[in-house]
Amino acid sequence: HAKESGRNAFNFFTSQMNADATQTLMLRSGLARALERQEFVLHYQPQVDLETGRIMGTEALLRWKHPDLGLVPPNRFIGIAENSGLIVPIGEWVIQEACRQAAAWYEAGLPQLTMAVNLSAIQFKRGNLVETVENALFAHRIPAPLLELELTESILIQDTDNVLATVDRLKSIGVKLSIDDFGTGYSSLMYLHRLNVDKLKIDQSFVRDLNDDPDDAAIVQAVIQMAKSLKLRTIAEGVENSQQLDALRRQSCDEVQGYFLGHPMLADDFARHLADWKPLT
Ligand code: C2E
Ligand code: MG
Ligand code: MG
Ligand code: MG
Repeated sequence: HAKESGRNAFNFFTSQMNADATQTLMLRSGLARALERQEFVLHYQPQVDLETGRIMGTEALLRWKHPDLGLVPPNRFIGIAENSGLIVPIGEWVIQEACRQAAAWYEAGLPQLTMAVNLSAIQFKRGNLVETVENALFAHRIPAPLLELELTESILIQDTDNVLATVDRLKSIGVKLSIDDFGTGYSSLMYLHRLNVDKLKIDQSFVRDLNDDPDDAAIVQAVIQMAKSLKLRTIAEGVENSQQLDALRRQSCDEVQGYFLGHPMLADDFARHLADWKPLT
């Protein structure tokens, strides 16, 4: 019996591996033409300010509408795009599209809604990130502070001088900068000191067990306190219930983002969500 189920498990395992490998091949071969075929779409997730209870911003999250595989989440293809260099044109499309949407909402009477965009380390090494951002802001006529660029700690540890120079140029354009997944990477406090960022995004892994794990609660509290001393704003990611929200409020976190406040959604659904939103009390 054991032998049989062992063999079944093995068969299952290998066929699962084959399926994954096949999918990766499909993704790799399709990625090059996905841009021209207009297969990418941005979903928008609300960010709620805890002082006002209102939706003050949104994060643009990339998805790929694959003709055979359906809607593919970014973690399945960003790595492939980075290895092939395709992340540069794809990332440029994301910046353009997010700014186009931000302009539409800005002109529709939402003058304060900020738009956050995720960046890859490769965009700092290759491509003209600064020019891309300048062109997008200019083309869509939105105030620079409405655009927020999310950097990961993995960006900040490589090629430090070049990254620091690029970050400085981005800051001088007037866009906002945040550090995504804060606490999961090689957080060097020196970066926070030298980098002139505006906001820390507390990683969802610390938020998940906030109410059950005293260590997570202590880490979140420490990050918020440090951010306040450095005059940085904080946003907690992955908020899924009211208990987490209450804890973050008690800890004086500035903003929250997560399924409890709204899933990532298409632009039209986001606009409806915004219109229906009752300020948190
Ligand atoms: P991220 O920037 O840290 O984005 C947060 C991720 O958490 C998103 O996953 C979002 O859908 C998910 N999330 C939001 N609220 C909750 C919640 O309450 N619970 C849980 N469990 N998850 C939640 P998504 O959209 O699959 O994106 C994954 C990652 O892919 C992003 O993590 C980001 O690092 C990357 N990514 C997304 N869009 C882009 C892009 O345009 N360019 C680049 N370079 N990376 C991107
Ligand atoms: Mg992000
Ligand atoms: Mg994150
Ligand atoms: Mg992430």
